[in-house]
Amino acid sequence: MEVKKFMVIGAGQMGSGIAQVAAQAGLEVVLHDVKDEFVNRGLGVITKNLARDVEKGRKTEQEKQDILDRITPSTDLTNAKDVDFVVEAIVENMDVKTGVFKQLDEIAPAHAILASNTSSLPITEIAAVTNRPEKVIGMHFMNPVPVMKLIEVIRGLATSDETYRVVAELSEKMGKVAVEVNDFPGFVSNRVLMPMINEAIYCVYEGVATPEAIDEVMKLGMNHPMGPLTLADFIGLDTCLYIMEVLHEGFGDSKYRPCPLLRKYVKAGWLGRKSGRGFYTYQ
Ligand code: NAD
Repeated sequence: MEVKKFMVIGAGQMGSGIAQVAAQAGLEVVLHDVKDEFVNRGLGVITKNLARDVEKGRKTEQEKQDILDRITPSTDLTNAKDVDFVVEAIVENMDVKTGVFKQLDEIAPAHAILASNTSSLPITEIAAVTNRPEKVIGMHFMNPVPVMKLIEVIRGLATSDETYRVVAELSEKMGKVAVEVNDFPGFVSNRVLMPMINEAIYCVYEGVATPEAIDEVMKLGMNHPMGPLTLADFIGLDTCLYIMEVLHEGFGDSKYRPCPLLRKYVKAGWLGRKSGRGFYTYQ
């Protein structure tokens, strides 16, 4: 199957990036959210990213315009009626996601693939609410989408080889590299990354070192481009806590218990960069 018309559900941080890379790959894109203002905010981010590319000489003004012209805004989910492929990038909540997948399953044509950009929720469970579990797959883009090369592709229990093949081809068309993983809590990316971040938070909690010192150790000693606590602030501490809880519950293993200091920060509203304060303070 060749994907021509591509729909993105959720025009937030991730959805707008996904719409941008899809339109850059020449696809006809529908960018959907619940309100016009959210779709417009997403389009605004895309326009700004493309304008920066033009400024830096990476794209021409004409190319920027052509990419924007390929994106159609939507606040009506029935626009999924003639698409070949949908990526869902809405809030990380199982009930909300399965509600949207149920509706998409009814609206989208029978051949359409339904993908989720979830960072941690089980693809098999999302697929089970549809009548096409073989066409449901995880397509986990990394933030910021236009920059990061990886797409972690998660196969649910019923995902077909053909669905995986279409997603791998599409990823390449978007200039990304697809890496295949199976459906386990946290997949690979967050199963490896989050316990490291959580352990760095334990180091702060137990007074082993300051956040600055911990980040320096990991940058200079392990060649990480960014220390784990700077990265946690960037991802959002609420998201980090949520993913640790998914790992803890999913494996039932105490090695994944979220650090009490992480819980305390989230309760205090110290969510990292987006709230102005986390392990560091931001203007
Ligand atoms: P975000 O809050 O920036 O955007 C979510 C958007 O979805 C919002 O614009 C919201 O209005 C919209 N939305 C909510 N419910 C909707 C519905 N029922 N129908 C249509 N639109 C709806 O969130 P985000 O950071 O872009 O994350 C989106 C998804 O991507 C989550 O599943 C998250 O776990 C995953 N993800 C996030 C990151 C990251 O670093 N932020 C990385 C990889 C994956």
